[in-house]
Amino acid sequence: MQASPHTHTLWQETLNNHPRGLIVTTLAIVGAGLVLDPYLGPWFRTWLIASLALTGLRFALYLASRSSTLAPPDDHHQRALALAHRVGVLASGFSWAILAWNATPLLEGSHQLALLIILSAMAAGATGTLAPLRIMGKVYVLLLILPACYQLGLIGSTDSLTLAGLGLIFTWAMCGAHESNHELLQHAIQLANDKEYLIGELSRHAEQVIKINAELEARVAERTHCLHEMAHRDLLTGLLNRRGISTLEAQAQPITPDKHCMVVFIDLDRFKHINDTLGHDIGDLVLQAVAHRLETSAQHLAQQLGSPRYGVCRWGGDEFVFCLLGIHTPLQQINPALADLHTQLAQGYDIQGRELNVGASIGYAVENHGLCSIPGLISSADLAASEAKRLGRGQVVVMTPQLLELQHRRLRLLDALPRATQDGSFHLAFQPIVCATHHQPLAFEALLRWSCPGLGSISPAEFIPLAENSDQIIRLGAWVLTEACTQATGWPCAPGRPPLKVAINTSIKQLVSSRFVAQIKHALAQSGLPPQRLIVEITESVFDEINIEQTLSNLLALQHLGIEIHVDDFGTGYSSLSRLQEFPLQAVKIDKSFVHSGDERALTVIEGTILIAHKFGLRVIAEGVETEAQAATLTRLGVDEFQGYLYGRPSPDVGPWLRAQALPVTAHAAPQQG
Ligand code: C2E
Ligand code: CA
Ligand code: CA
Repeated sequence: MQASPHTHTLWQETLNNHPRGLIVTTLAIVGAGLVLDPYLGPWFRTWLIASLALTGLRFALYLASRSSTLAPPDDHHQRALALAHRVGVLASGFSWAILAWNATPLLEGSHQLALLIILSAMAAGATGTLAPLRIMGKVYVLLLILPACYQLGLIGSTDSLTLAGLGLIFTWAMCGAHESNHELLQHAIQLANDKEYLIGELSRHAEQVIKINAELEARVAERTHCLHEMAHRDLLTGLLNRRGISTLEAQAQPITPDKHCMVVFIDLDRFKHINDTLGHDIGDLVLQAVAHRLETSAQHLAQQLGSPRYGVCRWGGDEFVFCLLGIHTPLQQINPALADLHTQLAQGYDIQGRELNVGASIGYAVENHGLCSIPGLISSADLAASEAKRLGRGQVVVMTPQLLELQHRRLRLLDALPRATQDGSFHLAFQPIVCATHHQPLAFEALLRWSCPGLGSISPAEFIPLAENSDQIIRLGAWVLTEACTQATGWPCAPGRPPLKVAINTSIKQLVSSRFVAQIKHALAQSGLPPQRLIVEITESVFDEINIEQTLSNLLALQHLGIEIHVDDFGTGYSSLSRLQEFPLQAVKIDKSFVHSGDERALTVIEGTILIAHKFGLRVIAEGVETEAQAATLTRLGVDEFQGYLYGRPSPDVGPWLRAQALPVTAHAAPQQG
């Protein structure tokens, strides 16, 4: 059984007091021997020896107990020692009782008093030294004094009775003092134990507080990390987001001649098509698959180009950015590395068991002087990627000073374009489309001309794509439509000949617009041009499946009005001969590249087109006819109408042709033809 800490402390206290008690006892025995020996018989000597021997034994017991206090308090050995110690105290008490009992009747008054003083002094000392032993302490006091008092009482003299009475009162007082000392000791031990317990509790609590603090700190650190990730990562792909990639800038080192920074801008091709046809969920899966492949490619690219630090970011939508710092590879090796990247990206993606293909237009910019500015490089690479897209997708284009200049020019044009319909810098040129048999004009194609303030004459090949990409083409097309209809209204009609038609070019963006038919009706109503005199030229891009429904419905509405629809630049785009039947068309216009080429392949295309078009009841127009030889070949192949420099260059005024046909000129002054 385990002793309580309280009992253990009491035992310790007992042992602590023990040497003092034994010293006092020894001195008392010696003192008694010196004072009483002459008055007592030989038995006293025996008592003296026995008492000293007992004290010696008790001292040995003390030493044994002291050396074993290091053992745990529940040790049986120690319990035995404690018991032996109590027996020792009791034996010592009895030895004093024997002395008092036997000596008191034999001694005279003063020696009786001396003995009583010795015994009382011993009892007084015991109240302190034996304070830990509640019962044994009192038994010891009683054994010391009561036998002497009893014997004094038996003597019966006044003095002895007085001494016996005083002895009894003293015994009572000493027992009381012993009890108080014991309680005081108990109380002190209790306080000490309480204090120890409190200190223990406090340190336990302090440990808990430290532990909780550490846990809280770890959680705060984790949260901070989470927030940082959320703020710097794209949720769909897990790549860095725009903010994330910009943090790389802080790590960018100044550029040295052998170390460059590079940003690669990747714009997926045909991703919109996937989103529109297969839904956004599949679109998301494709983006994740692309992101995964890009991460691997970026790692590979960084190794290949010796970049110690790189980042991959989803810039937004279907655009991604690689940022590679500290490249020390010669610039000439970059382009082949990116061509490989392009090939990797173009490989099919397995999305829910279906293989999907997305290509990419890649632009990149390298900084090899000054300080690396990642935002600057990203916008340069972005411009290079748009150039790659403009060049026909699937390209890798590097940002060069020339390209940058070109981009600046485009920005200036884009800035001026919205004002062009109002500031008079737009005008139309008309080019005749003639009958292949008698070479008389049947129609004029309206071609837009722009004299941009500050930049001069701009080719439609340059500004039309800009207008298309920036959606300004709808407003611009509406202007052409109104202008062409208004001018054509003034063209006279030669007797016996069909009225001259006007052909306008349209962009796919106009054709998919739900307002397109209303715009045409408005232009016709405003100008008074009969619908039968209007030709709408469309390009093969209308056969693109995504837009087909709205486009077809618009075209059917135009056909219903009596407007002619021609397919322009035939053979260059989606080349879907079967589609010719599904659309409400009247003619196809063979692209000038086939006319100019003159090789066998081109001739085969022309022949095939004529064959099928005629089968579907469509006329065939050849554009870009420049020579008599071309005209002769095309006539032989069965082309119905011609357009080209051979018959007339585009001109702002149709007067000369009208005059050549002896028609009265009603609109505009005679222009320069050619
Ligand atoms: P397009 O519709 O194929 O127009 C014919 C282009 O061929 C015109 O170039 C014309 O000047 C040129 N051309 C005509 N005959 C010959 C020839 O014998 N030889 C050669 N080499 N070229 C010839 P242009 O005017 O520079 O127009 C370029 C393109 O710009 C047009 O090609 C058309 O796609 C577009 N475009 C012009 N005006 C408009 C417009 O008002 N709206 C839209 N959406 N596009 C327009
Ligand atoms: Ca055209
Ligand atoms: Ca054309």
